[in-house]
Amino acid sequence: MIGVKDKRFGKLGRKRIWPSILMFGLFVCVCVAAFSFLIYLCAVCIMGTKISGHYEEALQVSAVFSELLDNGETAEEAAAQMQNYVVGRKDICLTDQSGRILLVTGDSQPDFDLALKFDIKQDVAAVADSKSGLVSGQTFASMFRMPAKDIFAGAFEFDDQGKTRAEWMDETIIRQDYWLRAPLKNDDYLLYIKYNLQAQRQDIAYVYILGFAAIIILLIPVILLFVNTLRSIIMQRRMAQLIYLDTVTGGRNWLYFRNSGHRILTRLRNSRKAFAMVDLHLERYNNYRACYGVKAGEELLEAMSGFLSARVGKNEAFARNEGADFGFLIQCAGENEQEYRDYCVKRVRSLLAELTGLRPDQKIRFHAGVDLIPPYIAEDGKWYHARKNVDIDELYTYANAARHESDETQEQRIAFFDQDMLGRQKWERWVEDNVEAALRNEEFQVYLQPKYNPATGKLVGAEALVRWVSLSTGLITPGHFIPIFERTGFITKLDDYMISHVARLQAEWMIQGKKMIPISVNVSRAHFAQEGLAEHICQLVDAYGPSHELIELEVTESAFFDDKDILVETVKQLKAYGFRVSMDDFGAGYSSLNSLKDIPLDVLKLDGEFFNGDEDGVRRGEIVVKEAIQLAKNLNMSVVAEGIERKEQVDFLASQDCDMIQGFYYAKPMPIDEFEKKVEKDA
Ligand code: C2E
Ligand code: MG
Ligand code: MG
Repeated sequence: MIGVKDKRFGKLGRKRIWPSILMFGLFVCVCVAAFSFLIYLCAVCIMGTKISGHYEEALQVSAVFSELLDNGETAEEAAAQMQNYVVGRKDICLTDQSGRILLVTGDSQPDFDLALKFDIKQDVAAVADSKSGLVSGQTFASMFRMPAKDIFAGAFEFDDQGKTRAEWMDETIIRQDYWLRAPLKNDDYLLYIKYNLQAQRQDIAYVYILGFAAIIILLIPVILLFVNTLRSIIMQRRMAQLIYLDTVTGGRNWLYFRNSGHRILTRLRNSRKAFAMVDLHLERYNNYRACYGVKAGEELLEAMSGFLSARVGKNEAFARNEGADFGFLIQCAGENEQEYRDYCVKRVRSLLAELTGLRPDQKIRFHAGVDLIPPYIAEDGKWYHARKNVDIDELYTYANAARHESDETQEQRIAFFDQDMLGRQKWERWVEDNVEAALRNEEFQVYLQPKYNPATGKLVGAEALVRWVSLSTGLITPGHFIPIFERTGFITKLDDYMISHVARLQAEWMIQGKKMIPISVNVSRAHFAQEGLAEHICQLVDAYGPSHELIELEVTESAFFDDKDILVETVKQLKAYGFRVSMDDFGAGYSSLNSLKDIPLDVLKLDGEFFNGDEDGVRRGEIVVKEAIQLAKNLNMSVVAEGIERKEQVDFLASQDCDMIQGFYYAKPMPIDEFEKKVEKDA
């Protein structure tokens, strides 16, 4: 899912240039309209002035004509006589109210289809002439549509053919016949008088000069707005680039990946396609930076980014997440899950191989975690729905979790995510979050598992085993948290806690005069690697004061593969303090007889695995156990057999002179109070 924050950034990142362009276009249109209107107004104004002159004259003509009609003259006679009273010959046209022509003098008549729009005076009506029509037929202003060069070029290259410039400018260049309607006293008739509208060169020049001035004035804001629009488009592009820029690699960043990945996966046409979220990880990046320098490290990441951008296909995306982790959303070919997996493995493997080649002289290793995203089929079983609730970060987290899971030493490891993995990781997190509080609340309880002497059947010892009785989850066995503690290092605190509690228990028994039973406590391998462990344990035990011989410390066999010198030293010191030390789980891993030679141990704990397996395995196990017991005896060690569940195993161990047996055959690990009852009965 895309969060509110992302949406906000996403909006900034979108390259929407059309609002700026639209605004600019709108402004230009307004300017053009204003310009045209200005020119039109100017033209109308000039022509209106001329027509007004004609109209004044027409009023006089119509007055004469009305007078003649009033004197009883016919229309024809009035028309003929009228010429005697007006200056210059005037063509007139008389119509009835319906516009039917009754009388026309001259060779043309009004063209009533071309009535002219004319706003100078309300009651003035003008009509085009049937012979000459109009330049454009619509308005007087249109008569000004003359090429500017006719006026200006001529004016600049003016050669006087006997004329002054003023005379030349006064020259009439437009002549246009038209008819003006003049009011008559007699309502039966309408009188039209023909006039010739003339425009001089200077009239048109005025319009053009005004036009140029207007263009220049309007051009300034247009240019400013254009520059501003251009700047805002460039700024927007830069901002989009910045928002999506990964400053380390110079490529796209995680925000971009989140947005574009979401877009790809939620596209309807992609719902039938399978995808895979891949976490590509460069191993030991910090070490690389430490050895080759920060700059070289970043250059390597940049090279990776460049390489991946050349490999990213349509419907795919990639970006660096953090450190040396890249998220890569790939589209998987295939028909079923196995085919998607195969495709994915092939593709990722070849990517990893090529990435490794980025630095041929240096050893760089890549690992990948993959979370497969199968085709989407909605709850109603239809495929034609788009994926919903896609959360790129969650998908990446799964891929990342998969990468974390498997063995890091392997070359080119590709691990696929599954739900168990998530469960494990969630559990780990829960453990890590709750462990400190659990220690404070004493949620860790000491359980004791008795050890019996098979010869006498008496309880002769015990092993302290931890149980986490969580207030929220209930009882948790060590297998669920010890490995996590070992990874996080918390195991040392737990060991201290157990040693202290066992010491306290022993001290209590001593004070209460109870039978003293030696108890062994597990000490983790991580703890054994620490210097000064013997003194530390000594202090923990001495805080309560029980006898050191009553406490035995169990070290797992695998600890013997660590730094042997420290181990030998610690064991010697522990022994010097009077503690007993045992080798736990002997035979569970790669047994090293050499360890027995080098380390002066007191007890050998044989792993229960010796007694498991098929008939032949058990028989062979018994041979090994027999020899191991013999070996331990020769080395002055006592032997404890663990995980013993059946009577025949007990009988066999008894026959081999095994000192103690610890197993479900006798008893399971139990709480202290239960153990104390058992001691009263069996010890
Ligand atoms: P471990 O020290 O080898 O302890 C013996 C384990 O074997 C115990 O498991 C015990 O319950 C189990 N066991 C005993 N008898 C039988 C049997 O007859 N059959 C079977 N199947 N199992 C038997 P648990 O208590 O679950 O402990 C597992 C491991 O966790 C221990 O192995 C030890 O390595 C570790 N652990 C337990 N408590 C502590 C602790 O306090 N500190 C440290 N560092 N590790 C501990
Ligand atoms: Mg143990
Ligand atoms: Mg053991």
